[in-house]
Amino acid sequence: MIRVEGLTKRYARTVAVDNISFEVEKGQIVGFLGPNGAGKTTTMRVLTCFMPPTAGSARVAGFDIMQQPLEVKKRIGYLPETPPLYPEMEVIEYLNFVGRLKGVSKAALKARIDEVIERCAIGDVRTKLISKLSRGYRQRVGLAQAIIHNPDVLILDEPTAGLDPKQINETRKLIKNLAGSHTIILSTHILPEVEQTCQQVVIIHRGRLVATDSVDSLTHRLRGSETVAVEVASSNGDLDPARIQERLEQVDGVTRVMFRETKASRHRFEVESAQGRSVRSDVARSVVQAGWDLYELHASSLSLEEIFLQLTATDQPETGATAQ
Ligand code: ADP
Repeated sequence: MIRVEGLTKRYARTVAVDNISFEVEKGQIVGFLGPNGAGKTTTMRVLTCFMPPTAGSARVAGFDIMQQPLEVKKRIGYLPETPPLYPEMEVIEYLNFVGRLKGVSKAALKARIDEVIERCAIGDVRTKLISKLSRGYRQRVGLAQAIIHNPDVLILDEPTAGLDPKQINETRKLIKNLAGSHTIILSTHILPEVEQTCQQVVIIHRGRLVATDSVDSLTHRLRGSETVAVEVASSNGDLDPARIQERLEQVDGVTRVMFRETKASRHRFEVESAQGRSVRSDVARSVVQAGWDLYELHASSLSLEEIFLQLTATDQPETGATAQ
């Protein structure tokens, strides 16, 4: 649905986006993640044909952003960081206006407005002046204008910025419900947002692509090997953790066993395995065969935050704290 190839955008001497390429499948929600100044907004502006790239190309819904910008614009809904609202208009009046502007036919417009009002849950403010709306409602009206012409692709720039926690939750739910019928790129610098809302993540840092993958496989790839959390106890509660450690170290494929804590006579360990090895079933068998009770066994994965720090850690001279 979206294919970006070697995209570069320079502003005078600043290279805001530097030769990035990625693809987004139909119906997916992709998190476009990076710290402030990474180049997210610039990429979105290029994809929405708001400004041309310096080099490279992109296709949206089968159309080239340079050759067929009108076709691209018809198929894109864009919610910039600050929604393009007219405060002196009522919600319904505004949606009518935007719908006409985006080429929705008069005959279809009423049904479209009813649909977006329902999807964005703004029925109770339909006749209110936009200037009187809370930030959360304004954001939803912004989302309603972005989908009024039923675009294939939705591009949302920091859609939860400035909202309170309840509004953030509601907006994320709403976005999730829009996936499937729309392909969505959502830019954010908030890591949990990507974990909660998106299937795929594109990470950029200083204009460069750092990683693009599914959230799950990115975690796995970075870690390379698996870390498993194990909790073990004996029925009479007098088991020495050193015995468990020794036994776990003998399991085939295990490279390291770390004792974490003992709580309520249950001993907790983390077990690391060799690259590409999954040792969970062997660890389970070994514990049970020793006659011990296995209370918990699961693969512990890196949080997106840790992944992000790992990916961008090699390139951070600005802190400068230890320069000599
Ligand atoms: P993000 O959305 O990830 O915060 P931006 O795309 O807004 O990042 O910015 C990327 C880089 O480009 C930053 O260094 C920013 O200062 C610079 N930049 C953005 N817009 C302009 C502009 N209109 N003129 C000059 N530099 C700009």
